[in-house]
Amino acid sequence: MAEDKFTAIIVGAGPAGSTAAYMLAREGIDVLLIERGETPGSKNMFGGRMYSYVLHRIIPEFWEEAPLERQVSREVITMLDGEKSASISCQNENWAKPPYHSFTLLRAEFDAWLAAQAEDAGAMLACGIRVDDVIMEGNRIIGIRAGEDEILADVVIAADGANSIISEKAGLRSKLSPADLATGVKQVIELPAKTIEERFNLQPGTGVAHLYAGTCTRGMPGGGFLYTNKSSISLGLVIKASELQKNQHLLVDLVEDFKSQPSIAPLISGGEVVEYSAHLVPEGGISMAPRLFSDGILVTGDAAGFCINLGYMVRGMDLAIASGEAAARSVMEAVKKDDFSANSLGIYKDLLAKNGVWPVMETYHRAPQLLDTRRLYSNYPALLNNLLVEMFTIDGTPPVNLMDKLKQQVKNSNTSFINLIGDAWKGGRSL
Ligand SMILES: Cc1cc2nc3c(=O)[nH]c(=O)nc-3n(C[C@H](O)[C@H](O)[C@H](O)COP(=O)(O)OP(=O)(O)OC[C@H]3O[C@@H](n4cnc5c(N)ncnc54)[C@H](O)[C@@H]3O)c2cc1C
Repeated sequence: MAEDKFTAIIVGAGPAGSTAAYMLAREGIDVLLIERGETPGSKNMFGGRMYSYVLHRIIPEFWEEAPLERQVSREVITMLDGEKSASISCQNENWAKPPYHSFTLLRAEFDAWLAAQAEDAGAMLACGIRVDDVIMEGNRIIGIRAGEDEILADVVIAADGANSIISEKAGLRSKLSPADLATGVKQVIELPAKTIEERFNLQPGTGVAHLYAGTCTRGMPGGGFLYTNKSSISLGLVIKASELQKNQHLLVDLVEDFKSQPSIAPLISGGEVVEYSAHLVPEGGISMAPRLFSDGILVTGDAAGFCINLGYMVRGMDLAIASGEAAARSVMEAVKKDDFSANSLGIYKDLLAKNGVWPVMETYHRAPQLLDTRRLYSNYPALLNNLLVEMFTIDGTPPVNLMDKLKQQVKNSNTSFINLIGDAWKGGRSL
């Protein structure tokens, strides 16, 4: 039964939806934000770090109030090869000073806070409601259906995450293919703040982001992550969904393997697992983006495929917030014209181009293809580790110069200089 009518209904109180709701409510536009979880964030997970620049643009100095964990001041990338590991580390103390570069955070707290900002600005938040369908009048979306309830709106914003049923029901995208998705699995492991600071060589308040490639995914495209929170560690794996399906590996086994790697185990030793979760990651890049708007509808965040995995960084939160911002601005323009047609809402694409989301998607459009290269997950971690171990081992055997060592290791790792050069060239263009 149709009840009230809103100017905008936003489906999903993740970072994309709550940002759009906050911006619209701040302008006095009546907006209903619907979330299927009992509280915003209760159904959400991610690796662990959000880049700050976009939210700072929308809520200046949000770090004064938002529930955040640590300011990330060090990045570490590690290639794992069984007992061996090789890392590159980059530290920048400026990242830990205002306007902080990125923060680790926990979604249950952060998403609830962001949705509360939208509520305080005047948005109506309805939790524990799963939207099942959109209501259409001809080709135009005029509202949503949740169980028996029908609610009308001038515009619906689909902010319902990677597996967006709203964009599918609206006919803006077809069913997702496992080839475009990764499965993420994560544990939160509690440890005292002091222990974390000692183990990771951190100052109170500062944190580190670790990404891993190599044996942690048993050769499947994907990688591991570890982020330090105040008094816990977020640790897990992201693995291409089609590979997991094909190889029939159990995620739980893969995570336990990862945790037992010699370079990881001491970092989490004595910690207690207090949370375990899994979630899809849209990794197909620009090629999996649905139609972003139509009559009476806009698609944002993960629902629009705005998530980038470059191997050395994962970005989804900042793109979700920025696309929520662009969606809200598009609706503000539509309200001024009282025109919610595709023609009017098409300004969304220009706003995404201006606020940086679309350029990110375009710049990294080759990344998904590159990250399908199997050599990145088996041959190269082995090659790098074996070469470094050779370099640093002194055992009385006759010396061999570095070039000969490299030739030998390339041969041992079942690859070739042609592959190496080709992949390095592709990597430079894609990342
Ligand atoms: C393992 C993993 C690691 C990641 N690591 C990082 C990282 O470190 N940094 C980073 O920036 N990004 C990371 N990401 C990506 C990031 O989490 C997403 O890009 C981001 O959460 C997208 O925000 P969103 O608001 O679009 O969608 P979501 O955060 O998925 O929010 C969607 C919301 O919609 C609700 N919803 C869904 N369907 C319905 C429905 N039918 N009715 C009502 N409500 C509904 C959900 O409950 C949810 O609250 C990671 C993702 C995963 C899975």
